[in-house]
Amino acid sequence: MRYLSANYIFPLHISPLKEGVLQISEKGEIINIFESRTEVPKDKLEILEGILCPGFINVHCHLELSHLKGLLAQKTGLPDFISKLSRARNVEIAEIKRAIIDADDKMQKNGIVAVGDISNTNNSFFIKEESKILYHTFVELFSINKEKAEIIFEEGMELLKNCPTPNSITPHATYSVSNKLFSLLKEQNNGGIVCIHNQETKSEDELFSKGSGALYDFLKQFGRVNKSGMSALQTSLLQMSKQSKIILVHNTYTQKEDIEWTKEKNYTIYWCTCPKANLYIENNLPDYSIFDVSKLCIGTDSLASNSSLSILEEMKELKENTDFDLNTLLKIACKNGAEALGFENLGTFEKGKFPGVNLINELDSIRVIA
Ligand SMILES: [Zn+2]
Repeated sequence: MRYLSANYIFPLHISPLKEGVLQISEKGEIINIFESRTEVPKDKLEILEGILCPGFINVHCHLELSHLKGLLAQKTGLPDFISKLSRARNVEIAEIKRAIIDADDKMQKNGIVAVGDISNTNNSFFIKEESKILYHTFVELFSINKEKAEIIFEEGMELLKNCPTPNSITPHATYSVSNKLFSLLKEQNNGGIVCIHNQETKSEDELFSKGSGALYDFLKQFGRVNKSGMSALQTSLLQMSKQSKIILVHNTYTQKEDIEWTKEKNYTIYWCTCPKANLYIENNLPDYSIFDVSKLCIGTDSLASNSSLSILEEMKELKENTDFDLNTLLKIACKNGAEALGFENLGTFEKGKFPGVNLINELDSIRVIA
């Protein structure tokens, strides 16, 4: 049994405790929380400098793109990024696997205990069987050619068969999935968690509301995307089941009206922000003041669009660009992400959970304590 104390403990299901004590088993189960050090025999206390919080949840990553670190130009916008990404993907499998192992290891050292990870291939499946990190894998499909919808869907189902659990099958983005493929996914994924890239670039809304713009011009080479007269967010959600929990990723250009609309229509939404990737690709950030902070969570996106896979680094960007206090930032980094991905044993220091314990110092350094 260990009794951990620090300047503050952030349990996240209750208010922060100054010089509180966390009792955990050798296996990492939360046994108890004490409000004061005097409640615990002195010789049993481990007193640490900094704050203690649960393990971080990385809600959005693409492990299988880890070998692309530093290869794609920054701040050139989403259409350019996508076209360079598809050209850079063909690399020896051994190199891809080495980069995946390294990325998984770095995430553990960065205090991440669970990840929502996108798979377009089976390249990252091996690590999910053996890693200490818990992964929810999103087998992600895309094709705007409706003639190919059935075959793409069948290939996705084949991939899903061999995919470590928990998992679900999901569309890539509103602009990259035909209506036919959306409907096949909806039929299959009734109740499963959906994760979709949303309003990552300004021209995404223009594409659907007006049938024009930079993204529309880029996509013409692959096929026809029909205008819907609505925002990208509304266009995709109308093609999804309200039974599903839906994680919308990026939301850089999401408007307040979109958020209101999801509430009126009773969708269960988590808003996953990837600030460093947004700065890398589009050099822009969402307006954080419009989101419900209890449904906001964080992803790193992939190393193709980020210099690190660190939730702490993402929190620093959030801190600089919002007025969120530390308790709120930590809820976004731990509790809300665990809820979004359905990991009930993670995210807070509630008794009986196995959330991991991180020691952080002024958001500058991190140590994994348990
Ligand atoms: Zn992504």
